[in-house]
Amino acid sequence: MPATALPTRAETIATASLASMETMDRTSVLHPSTHVGDFASGKLPSTIVESASGVRIRIRENGAPATELLDAFAGLYCVNIGYGRTEVADAISRQAHQLAYFHTYAGHSTEELIRLSDRLVRMAPVGSAGEPMQRVFYGTSGSDANETNAKLVWYYHNLIGKPSKKRIIARERAYHGNSVMAGSMTGLNFYHNFMDLPVAAILRTGAPHHYWGASGGESEGDFSARRARELEALILREDPETIGAFIGEPVLGTGGLIPPPEGYWAAIQAVLRKYEILLIADEVITGFGRTGRLFGCDRYGMEPDLITIAKGLTSAYAPLSGVIVGQRVYEVMKAGSAEAGVFPHGYTYTGHPIGVAAANANLDILERENLTQNAEEVGGSMLTALHEAFDGLPITGEVRGVGLMLAVEFVADPATKRRLDPANTVAYRISKRARELGVITRAMPQSEALGFAPPLVLTRGDADQIVETAARATREVLDALTREGVQL
Ligand SMILES: *Cc1c(COP(=O)(O)O)cnc(C)c1O
Repeated sequence: MPATALPTRAETIATASLASMETMDRTSVLHPSTHVGDFASGKLPSTIVESASGVRIRIRENGAPATELLDAFAGLYCVNIGYGRTEVADAISRQAHQLAYFHTYAGHSTEELIRLSDRLVRMAPVGSAGEPMQRVFYGTSGSDANETNAKLVWYYHNLIGKPSKKRIIARERAYHGNSVMAGSMTGLNFYHNFMDLPVAAILRTGAPHHYWGASGGESEGDFSARRARELEALILREDPETIGAFIGEPVLGTGGLIPPPEGYWAAIQAVLRKYEILLIADEVITGFGRTGRLFGCDRYGMEPDLITIAKGLTSAYAPLSGVIVGQRVYEVMKAGSAEAGVFPHGYTYTGHPIGVAAANANLDILERENLTQNAEEVGGSMLTALHEAFDGLPITGEVRGVGLMLAVEFVADPATKRRLDPANTVAYRISKRARELGVITRAMPQSEALGFAPPLVLTRGDADQIVETAARATREVLDALTREGVQL
């Protein structure tokens, strides 16, 4: 090697001190959901994640030695089987050695892809026609799967000769991804600002959150019925002949981990049926056990036409997403192909063998270890523990959740539901303090809620540690706010 040769990448990493790795991070990576200026200037830490096992990750930060954190958010609600499962790594490795890639265009397949798809259509909830789901289309992210959904809604309505029925209704506080259509379906301004979103094809209806949405002693059932009436009014005002689909997460995820109020999905589905509007169930978080049922649709009696899956499909061991297509849409596509020809949609990585191998190994573990049931049981006892720890605190507005999707929402005054001043970033400070105490939670965007969505392998002992740490962090932040003389 000539003396002037640049060091190899491995040599660079081996010789770089932690400080210089952090500098390289700041000078080379554009991080998602990160304050660009504060990260570049060093005001925000660069956190290097080294390794992980079970529900715990090891990180290095600010030049300090590696520390271990209990990840009560499973990455981004996705590492459902927990970290470091070598069985999945082995499946990925086997597939990579045998065949790392071939496309799936024009009928090309792999055995693992066939097995996974057969398994998914059999696992999936019954669709709107009362029939099993029919086919699976793959992508690599929840966002691209929802782009596919939008195109399927348009394609379907063109094929049935209703080309004006194209707009999609999404809800306030929804999260459906960050690409152009999926980002527009998302109902949080945080993701729209300075981005020219949402696009005009999206209509918006109210969030299914009883705590904030109900007026004057309205029961959950009454509130659900009102949301359904508001949906119908929107449809009539905008003209049913222009509306093709409604998209919703069975349980709101990024919007605040909010289970639907009683009767909500039954009331909404009755309206959708009346106006022949397709239902897209975005099960990216709720799919594969997180709510204590295999799918959120199973828990809430939803009969969708299209189902979005990602996150828990592979527990994030490799990127893979999908749209599970129901009979109503599939039969039209099949019959319509005589006129329309080849289905003109697909990605280079559709059905990518590595993601598919990871999904099969992940679902093997999910089933063998009864993780759906564990989510139900440990989630149920964790919800009780959260009530015990938080109900008495002076800023607890609502403790809520289902399975292992849980949250505590903070307010300035629980009696009047007066909101906290966002400038005081109370939930963010609590989450930051909990992290210093060894537990990762998430201050949910555009709200004052502290979210928990741990791996589904969580034990009761781990759940106790999460709840105790979060409650201690909350008390300490309350004390600090008092010391600082902050008016809540
Ligand atoms: C995360 C998420 C998405 C987007 O998935 P990406 O893989 O981040 O594109 C879509 N829908 C829901 C409900 C999600 O939680």
